[in-house]
This record gives sequence, structure tokens and C-alpha cells, in this order.
Amino acid sequence: MQKFDVAIVGAGAAGMMCAATAGAQGRSVVLIDHASRLAEKIRISGGGRCNFTNIKVGPENFVSANPHFCRPVLAGYTPQDFIGLVERHGIGWHEKHRGQLFCNESSEQIIAMLKGLCDRAKVQWRAPCVVDKVTRLDKGFDLQTDCGSIRCDSLVVATGGTAVPQVGATDFGLRVARQFGLKVIEPRAALVPLQFDPNIWQPFSHLAGVALEVNITVPQGPPGGFIEDMLFTHRGLSGPAILQISTYWRAGQSLSVNLLPQEPALAQQLIDQKAGTRQQMTTVLAQFWPKRLAQQWLAESGSRQLAQWSDKRIRDLACEIQDWQISPSGTAGLRKAEVMAGGVDTAALEQRSLKVKGTENLYFIGEVVDVTGWLGGYNFQWAWASGVAAGRALAST
Ligand SMILES: Cc1cc2nc3c(=O)[nH]c(=O)nc-3n(C[C@H](O)[C@H](O)[C@H](O)COP(=O)(O)OP(=O)(O)OC[C@H]3O[C@@H](n4cnc5c(N)ncnc54)[C@H](O)[C@@H]3O)c2cc1C
Repeated sequence: MQKFDVAIVGAGAAGMMCAATAGAQGRSVVLIDHASRLAEKIRISGGGRCNFTNIKVGPENFVSANPHFCRPVLAGYTPQDFIGLVERHGIGWHEKHRGQLFCNESSEQIIAMLKGLCDRAKVQWRAPCVVDKVTRLDKGFDLQTDCGSIRCDSLVVATGGTAVPQVGATDFGLRVARQFGLKVIEPRAALVPLQFDPNIWQPFSHLAGVALEVNITVPQGPPGGFIEDMLFTHRGLSGPAILQISTYWRAGQSLSVNLLPQEPALAQQLIDQKAGTRQQMTTVLAQFWPKRLAQQWLAESGSRQLAQWSDKRIRDLACEIQDWQISPSGTAGLRKAEVMAGGVDTAALEQRSLKVKGTENLYFIGEVVDVTGWLGGYNFQWAWASGVAAGRALAST
């Protein structure tokens, strides 16, 4: 039987950060993971360059049944703290789109940095190692694993969400939560492509590969929605705009898509352009849009000259383009999702430490908790910050 102050199940982003923090403060820590390759989600993130944080991070960038829950944890460990850590380890980074920070070279550098921090903090590794059973003792926990029985005073569940089971994601954390009587907010795929009924989608399916900037909204989404690129695919829609809105979208709802947000006065502009032009409407729309989209959009109305369109028809067309209402039939599911939304209900957790209320020593951190970030480095920032929050709390127990 092996005995530690702290056992952390899940050696991903949050688990390693927590282990390094608690270990550096003198706690004996064991980090257990069932995967044979360390931190697979960090490795594949950001196209292999890990979008490790965002310059500006606040509760408004997260979705949760309790939208303010994440505030103190995010304030306790900021993007600047993580940037400082990355720089002290000589990892070069650059800003891409909207404050998103990526490694110049490889996400492997982030993994190596976290592994190094854990090793320096004398964290013990058990990987690959499968936890079969968790039992609460009078004091602490007993973990039955395929690498022996492990006893610990405190248990941290950092097994992430259920998205992309192909790289080792499981519902272990949700099962442990239920075992200890905690409420779980129904898990669902988020940051995920949206799909449509094949009959509805048929006219658009051959637009696969066409991308354009849109403004996309759903009723319960953030004010103003998202202005990002959207991509047509064979089965539906993808691209950053769709991934972002997918976290807010609920089955049965329609999306409102402005396919030309850069031209707020589109109708009037077209009406003004009518006199003195012999251009076909497709040519006119192709000034703003990929030509294939302009052709498809006008396929049924016939490609007549702009001058032949009545003002009313132009206004109707502008309305269709700038408030395209379309109802997805579903998402591409957790196999294709970047994250799981939902998870352990934050009402069960202390806001600063992520400790289960009313217990002395059970913690849930990272994506398994019902705090889901936007696309753009927010999910890693939550993982780092929640790992540090629990690690500090463990160090002071
Ligand atoms: C393709 C892809 C790209 C992404 N890109 C980005 C990005 O660029 N920026 C960003 O902010 N977010 C990104 N994310 C999301 C981000 O990876 C996660 O939100 C983050 O890794 C969550 O950290 P975590 O520590 O909670 O879980 P994870 O990092 O998933 O770690 C969980 C660990 O637990 C282990 N585990 C699971 N089940 C068990 C079990 N039963 N027993 C033992 N161990 C177990 C897993 O093997 C894993 O090592 C991406 C996700 C995907 C899928």
C-alpha cells in the first residue's frame, strides 16, 4: 500500500498544474493517469502549437450554470501569470487572432515544462495506471488501481471532459461526482460543428470549403453574438463562428446568421447601385462574397441584372442575407467536439479552492467542472487557474 498527502487522478493540464503547485509547497503528491502518452489534449491543441491562453480572460468568456463562479479562480491565476511561466522556461510565443497566444514551436514545450515542474516538486507518477475503485475512509481515500492500492489524505479529480474519447477522455470524473452525491449538469458537446437534416442541407452541401466572416447569434448567447469565420461543410457548418455559438445552442433552436456583417446598409447600397449598372446580381454579390456562395444563393431567383430587381425584392434579399435563420438538427457530437460543456455542478464546490463543500479533502478541477470556455485559449486558462487554486488550498491544509 502506497500513502500520499494528495492523489490527483488525471495528468492533463489542470492535474499537472495542481500537482506542481501542491508538490512545490511540500505535499507528497501522486499523479495518476490511465494514458500511456502524457497530456494528449495539450499535444493536439491549437494545431500542435497549443493556444495556451488569451491576453484578456474574464467570466464573460465562459459558460456555466453559475456564470460568476469562475471569477475568483481566474483572478487568482491570470494569463499574465502563465505567460510569465512560459517565458521563464524560454518558450517563444506569439499572438494570433483576438488575443489568442500560441507557442512559436510546439505544444510539446508546454507538456515538457509542466512535467519538469512536477518532477522538481518531487511528484510521483503512476502512468499508465487505471483506477478501478475510489473509497472514502474515516480519514482520506483508498484508490484501488492496477498499480496497487493508493491511500491519500486528499483526492483531486482532474480527468477532464468526455470530448474526444479517441485520445483517452472518459466520464471517470462524472462517475466519481455522482458516487459522492454531487449534481452533474448534463454533459454536452461544445466547440463543435453543427449538422443539418440532409434534405435541408442538400442545396448547400456542394458549398463545402466556402468560408466567410459572419455575425452569428442565438437568444441566450453573448450580447452581439460572435463575429468570426464560418465554414460550409458537406454535412453542415463549422469554423470558429459555429464552434463558438455551438456552446450556447440548444436542440430545436435556430441560428441567426448575418452573412454580410461588414455591410450594415446593404439594401440601400444595392438600391443606390441600381441606376447606371448592367451588372448581374451574382456579380454584385460576388463583390462581397465567394462567387460560389453568390451563385448558390441566387440559384432559385435566377441571375438577373441588378437593375431589374424591385426595391422591395432587394430589401427582402438583404434581409435573408443578414438574418439567415437556420435550424441545425444536432451537433457533430463529443467525438468531434473540442470540449464538453456541463459537468460537476459548481454549486457543490467552494469558489476559491474547488473543494467539495462540506468535505475536507475532495476537489474537482479543470474541464470536468461545469465551466466551459470560448474558443481561444480560455479552456486552458481555466485548467491552469483551477489547478493552481486547488494546489494552493492543498498546500495550506
Ligand atoms: C482537438 C482539441 C484542441 C484543443 N485546443 C485547445 C486550445 O488550443 N486552447 C484551449 O484553451 N483549449 C483547447 N482544447 C481544450 C483543452 O484541451 C481542455 O479544455 C483541457 O485540456 C482540459 O484540461 P483538463 O486537465 O481538465 O483535462 P485534460 O487535459 O483532458 O486531462 C485529463 C487527463 O485525465 C486522464 N484521464 C481521463 N480519464 C481517466 C481515468 N479514468 N483514469 C485516469 N486518467 C484519466 C486523461 O488521460 C488526461 O491525461 C482543445 C481540445 C481538443 C480536443
